[in-house]
Amino acid sequence: MTDARPPPGQIVIAGGGIGGLAAALALARQNIPSEVLERRPAFGEDGAGIQIGPNGTRILTALGVAPMLEASVTTPDAVHIRDAMSGRDLARFPLGPWIAERHGAPYWTLHRRDLHKALLDTARREPLIRIRTDVVVTALREERDESVTAVAADGEASRGRALIAADGAWSALRTDPFGGGAPRYTGKCAVRTVLPVSAVPEPLRRPEVNLWIGPDVHVVHYPVSGGEAVALVAIFDDGRVAGDWNSPCDRGWVGARRQRFAPLLKDLVGRPDTWRRWSLLALETSPQFSVGRMALLGDAAHPVLPFLAQGGVMALEDAVVVARALAADPQDPARALEAYARERTPRVRRVAEASRANGRIYHMEGVMAAGRNMALRHIPPERFMSRYDWLYGWALPA
Ligand SMILES: Cc1cc2nc3c(=O)[nH]c(=O)nc-3n(C[C@H](O)[C@H](O)[C@H](O)COP(=O)(O)OP(=O)(O)OC[C@H]3O[C@@H](n4cnc5c(N)ncnc54)[C@H](O)[C@@H]3O)c2cc1C
Repeated sequence: MTDARPPPGQIVIAGGGIGGLAAALALARQNIPSEVLERRPAFGEDGAGIQIGPNGTRILTALGVAPMLEASVTTPDAVHIRDAMSGRDLARFPLGPWIAERHGAPYWTLHRRDLHKALLDTARREPLIRIRTDVVVTALREERDESVTAVAADGEASRGRALIAADGAWSALRTDPFGGGAPRYTGKCAVRTVLPVSAVPEPLRRPEVNLWIGPDVHVVHYPVSGGEAVALVAIFDDGRVAGDWNSPCDRGWVGARRQRFAPLLKDLVGRPDTWRRWSLLALETSPQFSVGRMALLGDAAHPVLPFLAQGGVMALEDAVVVARALAADPQDPARALEAYARERTPRVRRVAEASRANGRIYHMEGVMAAGRNMALRHIPPERFMSRYDWLYGWALPA
């Protein structure tokens, strides 16, 4: 155990990803000190894109992170949906100024690395936040003196008034004491890459979120790095049981699966030299989000399928809610964390269900797909987007 005395009232955060760093920043905005323990020896995010809806960009602005992202974000004009097999245009739903005006915050696409770096740089400037790398938290322990200890692999530990476990989708901490199960492979994987914009077929360079849907597959691509590059992700059914997370993926494997695509999509998917593969996970048993003075946050609490592009945004929402709860009830962190859990559970369940539903809709075949395509072509675009007001309009009550 470390001898260094923690600052009074410190909160320990296990995991320095999007959720852990956002939680540290949100706590600092409430004048609460924290220590972030990150497993990796050095920070560095892998190449992939991320979409942040208005419910997330509003939080990044409130946390003081947004100004660092000005040069790296794109505000796409629309979500452009096409049939992956015929190439037919199905719909173009408005983002850009329309969504920014409707929800008072923009819709962004950016490189994950840029988002993580902006969170980290903002956190490093904050005197109330301490960050330690190369610390693998292996267990959590509530002490008799009402503190909580994070036990690390090498015996070192950090102690605080409460603890937030934000150790991601493969969380080692969600089982004990939160009672969550191990993640289960869903039979779907995401293969991802980032291409310079010059390597993308000319008709696909518009500032849009492009979604191609088809039986058992969908492909998404959008601008990142301020429009200099394009993030490309394809979701495939894949029977291989995988314990792998972010592993290299053979170009030939992706190539074999693009044969049935429409020519423009086939061309795009054939261009990258390298891909990386993510297994998409679900939980058999959902954990409790809080137990005593300890709480789960982000993917550790609720890994969601990426079909609504909201997993990272849910971690941002968790962060501001947990910080506000701890600030509102300084005498009783356990009660504060219980309030956080109560507030977040229905919201993330709804998002998880909406993500699953999108997956089913994207991957339809036969008459179901024909009906879906007809509906997409005929629904007024603004009416369609306003069905997501519950999602993008979320804001922390004043
Ligand atoms: C294909 C795909 C596309 C996605 N697209 C989007 C999108 O467009 N928009 C969106 O909002 N979300 C998206 N997501 C989801 C998003 O990436 C995650 O929800 C988000 O990264 C969760 O953040 P987190 O902080 O909870 O976990 P992570 O980002 O995984 O961070 C966990 C951190 O904890 C550290 N850690 C792990 N174990 C320990 C330990 N024992 N001790 C200490 N540290 C530890 C890890 O090293 C890591 O730094 C996507 C996900 C996938 C797979």
